[in-house]
Amino acid sequence: MARERAGKGDSGPDPATVKREKEKARQLRSTSWWQALVQKGVCHYCGKTFAAEEITMDHVVPLSRGGRSTKGNIVPACKECNTKKKHATPVDMILSGDLNKPLDL
Ligand SMILES: [Zn+2]
Repeated sequence: MARERAGKGDSGPDPATVKREKEKARQLRSTSWWQALVQKGVCHYCGKTFAAEEITMDHVVPLSRGGRSTKGNIVPACKECNTKKKHATPVDMILSGDLNKPLDL
């Protein structure tokens, strides 16, 4: 079922999918891939370096918008950028592109 981009008020992906993706994100946290990013501490958005405990895991396309927990969709972000991003996601930009393209793993 190919759901076209909805302008607004979309109900989003089904809860089971979101739950599964959240679980995947949790598993990714313990990978050496993620640990290395945390240790580097470079925020994907502002490019500054932070202490490991300041780095949060951020979904470029939020799960609530159909994003997935893949290495291509998860970036390290400082708390400030993560908070800011909640107010302005690039989702509209992304939705106008090709979301179905497999992310680079
Ligand atoms: Zn930042």
